[in-house]
Amino acid sequence: MRRRLRLPLGAWFALLSLLLVAGLGKALVDAVERVVADQAVAEASRSAELVAGLVRHDLASDAFTRTLVASDRVALDRIVREAPELRSLRLWGPAGLVVYDSDARLDGTVQQVGELLQGAYDGRTGAHLEYERDSESPSGRGELLEVYVAVRAAPDAPVVGAVELYLRYDAAAERADAASRTLTVLLLLGLGLLWALMCWLSTLVTRRLRRHAGEQAELARTDALTGLPNRRALLGALDEALAEQVPVALLLLDLDRFKDVNDTLGHATGDRLLQDVGARLVEVVGATGSVARLGGDEFAVLLRGQDDPLAALAVADRLVVAFDRPFPQQDLQLAMQPSVGVALAPLHAVATGELLQRADVAMYVAKGRVEGTAVYDHGNDAHSLDRLALLGDLRTALAVGELALVYQPVYDLQLNGGCTSVEALVRWHSPRRGLVSPSAFVPLCEGSGLMRALTRFVLDEALRQCRTWQDHGTSLAVAVNLSASNLMEDDLPEAVAGLLAHHGVGAERLILEVTESAVVTDPERAARVLHRLVGLGVNVALDDFGTGWSSMSRLLELPLAALKVDRSFVADLPDGQGAAVVQATTGLGHQLGLWVVAEGIETVEQLRHVVAIGCDVGQGYLMARPLPPDEVPAAARRNVRDFLGDPEHGLDRGRLSSHDTGSARIP
Ligand code: C2E
Ligand code: CA
Ligand code: CA
Repeated sequence: MRRRLRLPLGAWFALLSLLLVAGLGKALVDAVERVVADQAVAEASRSAELVAGLVRHDLASDAFTRTLVASDRVALDRIVREAPELRSLRLWGPAGLVVYDSDARLDGTVQQVGELLQGAYDGRTGAHLEYERDSESPSGRGELLEVYVAVRAAPDAPVVGAVELYLRYDAAAERADAASRTLTVLLLLGLGLLWALMCWLSTLVTRRLRRHAGEQAELARTDALTGLPNRRALLGALDEALAEQVPVALLLLDLDRFKDVNDTLGHATGDRLLQDVGARLVEVVGATGSVARLGGDEFAVLLRGQDDPLAALAVADRLVVAFDRPFPQQDLQLAMQPSVGVALAPLHAVATGELLQRADVAMYVAKGRVEGTAVYDHGNDAHSLDRLALLGDLRTALAVGELALVYQPVYDLQLNGGCTSVEALVRWHSPRRGLVSPSAFVPLCEGSGLMRALTRFVLDEALRQCRTWQDHGTSLAVAVNLSASNLMEDDLPEAVAGLLAHHGVGAERLILEVTESAVVTDPERAARVLHRLVGLGVNVALDDFGTGWSSMSRLLELPLAALKVDRSFVADLPDGQGAAVVQATTGLGHQLGLWVVAEGIETVEQLRHVVAIGCDVGQGYLMARPLPPDEVPAAARRNVRDFLGDPEHGLDRGRLSSHDTGSARIP
């Protein structure tokens, strides 16, 4: 495998600029040396001309046409001897005739005319640096400057000959060298400083740019509202993990009915809630995974290295449990419920898009479950398609009348044991699907426009039936279940009033059941709608009491007539922790002047217990299952005494007296 050398940009810059600066330095140093050398030569040439002037001065004017007379030679020898920098001296007559040679070697000979000599003949001074082999120079450098100077009889007279001098150049060269050394050092220092400055500036700029780019990249991968990684960041992390073949678990979390918060409390509150939700998720997940916000009310948790669906599901469960604590917003305690879908790679998907889609499917499955979590399984795909199809079918079902109501009788437990009311429960007889349970389609309707239509249908049908029974001699109140989104319908009270009037049923015969969770999303608005309903004379019962976590004080601000103890507590009777809850709830309800309903009574034991505790009314399979309307009158003629079994068995039957008076509030 070939690896290319990868230097950081800064290093490249430093290297290239160093080369450039070094090249520049070299050129400058060369230039300096050249200038200094030229200067030295020019200086030497000037002293050569002085010597030449001296020589000419001392000679006869015709001296250059013949060899010198002895006295001239003596004079010249003296000059050579006395001028310390003069190494040797030669006088040239015309055409290469050597008139005098201080070395006494070439006197009287005719030499070839060299370039410099010719220059001197032509009136120019020329110099040339020569290296003397057998150096006598003190510095040992042995450099000699050979200078040719023209000789004229008078300043403007023609050239008569030339003087050739060998000047010791060492001293000048030393000076020049010293000068050039100083200059070079200064130059190199300057250039070095310049280079360092450039490098410093460039690293500074690079670092700034890099930080800026980093910030930009970070921003592009961050959710502005929560500061969490966004969808892009999540996709990146997923791609990376899958590419590295690291197993991952992806948890998709979606808030149920978040839209209601936005619609009723405004976007600012919705935004703050999302921030708090994000923070809580981070708190739960900690270092075991990373939390991202995908947009809207959708969050994701990525567990890198997780390949165990059960472990991932456990994390999902922890997330759901963390929502048991409400989210304080202003003076409200918002109870939110999440649904979490879990999918794993490579178990369920090998590609990022596929994994997301699978987690999404699991999330829809989770929405239909009480526990609020689900791990993807291959059967789910059909489920999610089913869900859409189901909603579509349900729309049709409402239109063509495939929905029907069944009624579960509710019996008095303390006074006469008679049937006081029925709870209307919806059933869907689908020609394609068979009998569909409300738990399978009611939660799916929530948040879609269908909930409104469904409730209006149930109200209409229940009141019509109530009137029919009444006309046939069975007077019963009827309870209808409302869902959270119904309490956000400002025109619900008018609709109820209209239906009561239309069917000629007294408002006191209608009980509306609402759940805690339906109220806590937007307590103020729910309370407004409920107060208007109560204003009509309708009774409101709090359903599934004890399963939510809403603030008690807030619940008590609602205009309630009854509490329905959730059947999970009744199922616990006679032992178990549920017993305490049933007992406490009954006490609380009575203190507040409410009547208390025990639901889900399945055994004689449970019945006896709720009677003994003092629950006012009760319903359950023991007395009657939800019944079609024509079976209700017969069931309504039965009495709780019929179900209590062995009269000797413990229960104080005196509680159930046969007189008909009692709490006027219980219909
Ligand atoms: P819920 O309001 O708590 O209704 C009581 C549920 O308990 C009913 O289930 C009923 O059949 C069941 N039940 C009654 N006695 C017993 C018993 O002794 N043991 C057990 N294990 N269960 C018993 P159902 O009819 O399946 O309804 C389930 C839920 O669907 C209801 O719970 C209610 O929340 C919802 N629902 C049903 N009809 C409507 C409706 O018309 N509108 C709305 N919004 N929700 C409805
Ligand atoms: Ca109910
Ligand atoms: Ca209930």
